[in-house]
This record gives sequence, C-alpha cells and structure tokens, in this order.
Amino acid sequence: MATIRRKTAIPALDDFKYARKNGIDLSWDNYEQMLPQDGFARLGLACSDCLMGPCRINPFDRGSEKTVCGLGRKELAYRSMMRLMGAAARETADPMAAILETAAAKCPETVKVSDGCTSVGAGVLKTDMINVLCEGVPFARLAELEKAAESADAAGAKGFNFVLVGACCSKRNTACGLANVELAMLTGLADAYLLGAGAVGLGRNAAAAYHTAVLCPGMETGALLKKAAEAFAKRDAAKIRPAGEPVQLKMHSLESLAEIAGSCDKVALFAGDANIKRTVGAAVIDTIKALTAKGVACFTFGNAAVEAAGLDGAVYASGAAVSDVAACEAIMKKVCAVCMPELALGGTVAQALYMGGKGAPVLTCTELPVEGCPELADALHESVEYCAPGDFTARALECAGEGV
Ligand code: SF4
Repeated sequence: MATIRRKTAIPALDDFKYARKNGIDLSWDNYEQMLPQDGFARLGLACSDCLMGPCRINPFDRGSEKTVCGLGRKELAYRSMMRLMGAAARETADPMAAILETAAAKCPETVKVSDGCTSVGAGVLKTDMINVLCEGVPFARLAELEKAAESADAAGAKGFNFVLVGACCSKRNTACGLANVELAMLTGLADAYLLGAGAVGLGRNAAAAYHTAVLCPGMETGALLKKAAEAFAKRDAAKIRPAGEPVQLKMHSLESLAEIAGSCDKVALFAGDANIKRTVGAAVIDTIKALTAKGVACFTFGNAAVEAAGLDGAVYASGAAVSDVAACEAIMKKVCAVCMPELALGGTVAQALYMGGKGAPVLTCTELPVEGCPELADALHESVEYCAPGDFTARALECAGEGV
C-alpha cells in the first residue's frame, strides 16, 4: 500500500481502500504479487523470436556467451529495443542507428490539432449515457464509431459517450490518465473499454469485477456498439460511486504553442506514459511546478497533459504528439528539456528516441531494456538520458540552466 500511495499523483486512497474491501485486485497488487520480474528480459538479454529459444545470456557472464543462433549481448539488447517498438530486427553493423531509424519511422507525420477546451476526470462519465473508455484507439476510428453511434440503438440511454484514457484533444473529453484507468472503472460507470493495438489496458483488472465489456476497436462497428449497449443494460446501480467534478483544460494547437514559445525564453516539453513500476507518479507534476517557478513554460502532451490538468501557471496542453514539435523550429529552439519520466509503450519510447535524435535533451527515469549491453546502453543514453527517479526534477532544472 505504501507503494500505491506514492504512485499516484491524484489523492485516491479511498478508491484503493474500496478496491481492497471489495476484493478487486489492481495492477499494483498484480505487480507486487508477481515479483521478481524476469531480470534477463529487463536487461535486454532474453529472446523468444523463434522456437529454437527462448534464449538468454547470463548478465554476470563477462565471457563470450552466445544464444543458439549465435547472438551476443549487443544483438540481444538491440532486438529487445526493436521488439519493444514493434519492429523486426534486421542484420546491421550499427544497431543504434537502426534503433533511431526505426524510432523515426514510428513517429507519424504531424496531425493538425486545434485550439479548444476539454474536460478531464472521471466526472466526464455520465450516469445516463453509455460510457465508452478509449485507450490507444486511433482518432480516425474513434470518429467513425462516434458517427455510427448517432443512429445506433442506445438501449434506453441518452446516447453514447466516448471518452479518452491517457490522451486528450479538443474534440472529446478524457476520463483519466493511464495510471488511473482502474480507478475510473471503480465508478461503476464504464460500460465499454476499447483497447487499441499496443494499449496495455490496465483497466481490465477492475473491469473484470464490473459489467464493463472489454472490446477491440477493430471489431465490426455495429457489433461493437451493440456490445457496449448490452453492457450498459447490465449496470449494477449498487456499484455506482460518485466521480467528482472534471477539470477544465485549455487545449493548444502547435501554432498557438509556437506563439507562446516566441514570447518566453525557455520551454520544457512533458510527455510519456504511466509505468506502475515507478513510484514517482508525481514526477511530472513536481517538475512542472519547479520549472514554472523559474519562469520556464511547460508544454504538455498525451498522458502528461492529463496528469498535469488543473495545474496553474505557465502550463499549456496540446493534443499533438510530442514528436510533432520536432518539425516546429519556433518551439524547438526554445526547448531546454523533454521530460518523459515514465515510459511504458513502444510508441512513446520511439517518440523519446526521435526527439533525442533531433538533438533535444530527453530525460527519463524508466530503464530501457539495453542495460545488459553497456556499449549499446551508452549509445542510447546519448539520445535519452536516464535519471534516478529522485533526481529527475533537479536534472530538469539543470537542463533549464536553473539550480535547485
Ligand atoms: S536468440 Fe536466436 S535462437 Fe534464440 S530465440 Fe532468439 S532468434 Fe531464436
């Protein structure tokens, strides 16, 4: 429980007590019950790419240990990074260059985002609508579902309410960040939970104790909406808990952020995921507070924008991806740090590497699976610098040229 209390930036002790009392295991429980995790895989020294494996190399062996197919530490760590980013490893004499090329290829072209406003918090879930939580669902697919939902049978509800998890935009509301999706489930108002390709889906832990339908957004549209409506009809009124008022969050286009960057000396970018292995879920918030107190403007993206919603001061949220900033010279020339303390997903790791490859100082306190090969780890840390969790804010201040 000590770990849990430190983990979340949102005071949610009542939620944890409620889950414990009702026998609902959350991701933190699963993690702690599962320990220790596979040390070989954490270091990037394991491979299961073919059925002649799985293979691993002993991290304490400093000799010439090889896998069945003759791979050494460097090749295994390289494969781990490629696998994490959802790419196939290829033969290469320069694994770091291949990793950076792959990261760049994984960062999609800039999607135009607009100025506007959104609401953030579990209070966006409606008691009289079919609430559909969307994690990692491409916006184009979401727009299709919203359109189809306008004329779909809503099983007595007032309609469908699609809300985001771990992301925000000016066109729809956000229920929670990635670390808090299980807590959103505890409202008893999540009727469907859509998990896009690559989504981790921490919410399925709590969803199993509710009527919530966990669905793939790729399924046929009519069938998906019908499943969500059927789940709504099975809601248990006795399990519904108050969700509180959502926070209003102003959203910025890249053009607006460029204007803001033009009027200030330094900008820090905040992005990344939530990773339950980190006990510093508040790193984003603490670091934003420290930087804004020194006059640094903080631009927030994705899950970091959700976590920072409600903070006062020079904090500006955007629905763009942090990697989109690389194409915006007006912002890039003011960037003193790219803060991505928690990484979990391959796509976000690719964004971190991409920004580092563009010369921005990128900081994380999440270890990547390369530490089993010091040579590759050193090369990678030239693009993404690892900081111990307790040093993160101080390091970001240093990057901004400010003492603690
Ligand atoms: S290291 Fe080679 S032999 Fe072992 S699982 Fe991977 S690809 Fe197969």
